[in-house]
Amino acid sequence: MTCIKSDSGHPEKNGGAGKDFNAFEAMTPRSPGAVPRELKNGARVKTNEVSPSGVYLPNYNILTPNMQSPDYVQMSTAAAITLGVMPGRMFRCGCTRCLNLLLTYPEGCRANCAYCGLARHREAERDFADRNFIRVDWPAVPTDQVIEIVSSEGENTPFHRMCISMITHPRSEDDTFTVLKKWTDKITPETVPVSILSNPTTMTRNDVEKLSDFGADIFTVALDAATPELFDRTRGKGVQSPHNWKKYWEILLDARDVFGDQKFGAHIIVGMGETEEQVLRLVQELVDLGGHSHMFCFFPENGSLMDHLPATPRDQWRRVQVGRYLIDYYDVNVAHMKFDEEGRVVDFGLPQAELDAVIDSGIPFRTSGCPGKFAQDISACDRPYGDSPPSDIASYPFQPNEVDLKKIRHQLDMEMPGQEYLESEEFE
Ligand code: SF4
Repeated sequence: MTCIKSDSGHPEKNGGAGKDFNAFEAMTPRSPGAVPRELKNGARVKTNEVSPSGVYLPNYNILTPNMQSPDYVQMSTAAAITLGVMPGRMFRCGCTRCLNLLLTYPEGCRANCAYCGLARHREAERDFADRNFIRVDWPAVPTDQVIEIVSSEGENTPFHRMCISMITHPRSEDDTFTVLKKWTDKITPETVPVSILSNPTTMTRNDVEKLSDFGADIFTVALDAATPELFDRTRGKGVQSPHNWKKYWEILLDARDVFGDQKFGAHIIVGMGETEEQVLRLVQELVDLGGHSHMFCFFPENGSLMDHLPATPRDQWRRVQVGRYLIDYYDVNVAHMKFDEEGRVVDFGLPQAELDAVIDSGIPFRTSGCPGKFAQDISACDRPYGDSPPSDIASYPFQPNEVDLKKIRHQLDMEMPGQEYLESEEFE
């Protein structure tokens, strides 16, 4: 078993609609189909009522057990391999540094986000615990077993951070409190701090405060879409989903008040129809508030309402990665950058020699997210191959080497003389 899926969803040179980037008009999701009544709300799992026993590895050929948080959580394939509850190897990665947990219920997530493999419209086709999400399967493991393994490893745990993804479900607040409390009862924040990937739609400020009181370290909001229009089209009314841009910002600002400077942030997916200028202005807004942005490259997730659309062209993605890194960690302000009439970055706002040094550090191209134990600008949350196939990496879950950097410079159209990238040379 491996976390590497067969390669699909390679980015095109052009993003459609006659543009060389993923333009708004080219990125319209499909409409969700109707779900037969007898398959709604996890009915198949609840009717079969198979009792869970130990670790469940997603398998469409057997009846899915009725697993529910807080007793069970799902985790990324990379986390399950690192925890040692499933066999497998990852391309060029020994392990992941972040234990990404997902609350789980037969009813699954009640939202319908267009780019997401967990979305509600999939209930006709696949039980929640069997759905692919950010390109990988998510095994389900008893929560106590997870905590027992990590606490028994003490300081030797490979994990630098744990994260609870709340999903949209009526029980998600209470169960997040329970999972967090169980964790912090056994594992100190110095050993493995906890991030919360929140679900603002059902949350109040009081919930945000409670998560802080229970020992969460960082609170994040998955804005995902970079503009209100895109948000509504991909996560709101456009796809019969309950999310609302204003409510997300309300909780984000509550998190700023409660968790404080550098302890809150937002997820943003690049390439769903926003311009580079729009997304970098959002990054600046978050930095001005005292927070961070965690970037994902759009990938057409199989089974999602956007699986027919192109992955983000690599030049668009690389420019946004560089711009985001400069704003988040290098004190460059978006006001110093220049954009063309299509919103593409044409000047990053610092001298070429400095820009070269930042690019050659390789750090802007690593997966971005909550920090671990190496450095503030190196994410513990490395999500191996969550936004691209390993054959055409978008976010590097490891430090890019010399050949990777040649490829990145090629994608940025900033190759150094005498160091031109040769197609596929990183696999030689
Ligand atoms: S970036 Fe932070 S909040 Fe987002 S999934 Fe990773 S650890 Fe969780």
